[in-house]
Amino acid sequence: MSDLPYLPFTRPTLDEATIAAVGDVLRSGWITSGPKVKAFEAALSALVDGRPVRVLSSATAALELALHVAGVGPGDEVITPAMTFFAAPNMIVRVGATPVFVDVEPGTRNLDLEQAAARIGPRTRAIMPTHFGGLPCDMDALYALARERGLRVIEDAALAIGSTWRGRAIGSFGDLCVFSFHPNKNITSIEGGALVVNDEREAQRVEALRFHGIVRLPDGTRDVTEVASKFNLPDVNAVVGLRQLEQLPAFNAKRRVLARRYFDRLRTDPPLELPHPGYPGEAEGHSFNLFAPLLPLAALTISRAQFRAALEARGIGTGMSYEAAHLASAFARFGYHRGDLPHTERIADTTVTLPLFPTMSEADVDRVCAACADVLGAARATTAS
Ligand SMILES: *Cc1c(COP(=O)(O)O)cnc(C)c1O
Repeated sequence: MSDLPYLPFTRPTLDEATIAAVGDVLRSGWITSGPKVKAFEAALSALVDGRPVRVLSSATAALELALHVAGVGPGDEVITPAMTFFAAPNMIVRVGATPVFVDVEPGTRNLDLEQAAARIGPRTRAIMPTHFGGLPCDMDALYALARERGLRVIEDAALAIGSTWRGRAIGSFGDLCVFSFHPNKNITSIEGGALVVNDEREAQRVEALRFHGIVRLPDGTRDVTEVASKFNLPDVNAVVGLRQLEQLPAFNAKRRVLARRYFDRLRTDPPLELPHPGYPGEAEGHSFNLFAPLLPLAALTISRAQFRAALEARGIGTGMSYEAAHLASAFARFGYHRGDLPHTERIADTTVTLPLFPTMSEADVDRVCAACADVLGAARATTAS
């Protein structure tokens, strides 16, 4: 139906220098974890004001290891928003703990800290908040709560690399913090993730846990003190991440320009419910990994699936972030039901992610806005006219 090129909802931006750098690593004779991993970790550490960072094969692996570092295990509870990616509750269950799902604030779509406080009990050991779509949680309130109740915090900052809170980078303060370098994120290493920790002792634990639990003894032999899996990042991936990290400020700046264009241009009838624009006065506060309005389904004659299909027919891809985690089949045994967490469920039922990535143009944004207006206008449920 469209003569214009297909516009996906996200796409990685990889330049020729990055592709050449991968070739150099492949020719170097050392292709798995090595000097490029060290360089990537040093560059990430600089981004977070010198805190120790270790890279891993994914953010999911980083979440799992963060739970181990925080001492979370069987019998413990971890508070997590239900509006999050499945990786967070999955890893909580993987380490033998129980996810305690809490609703989000409708505006920011971040963990509702008052409801979280009410769910803290004798078994609660940690809070695992998500910075939704790249918008930080209220970090002052989050860490005040954690300090007051003696809880560890594991920030799922998969989408928030480069975001700031009161001018400070996410990950540069606080407790444990996880970034993702999946191709849909603000920078990529194809697959990959990072864990920001507090000190060298925690960093060494992560190094052991990401590679068979191996520790090196003074005599040059190896020991395993704790059984572990294998989550190391190859140098081929690390060199991609390193090049991407240099471009992060430019990528995020372009994302903010495009998001601004969406806010300025997105007028539809019936109206879409627009996402949070970022905190006032916090110029780099929001990394805008996602631009995800909510559909006014009650005022429409079409479903979300039909809306997405209509955009697809116009050559425009869309995404969906996220389903309501507390309603996933794997977590049914924790006893949550539809109706328990109404903000999460409303977002999950009506959200649609529109295209947003650094190589898009403002004309592309206009094209998406026009298509939305067209499809929504035609699907307006008629009342008395
Ligand atoms: C993508 C994502 C993850 C998982 O990242 P991987 O690197 O693919 O493991 C976790 N949490 C959130 C919020 C994400 O968006």
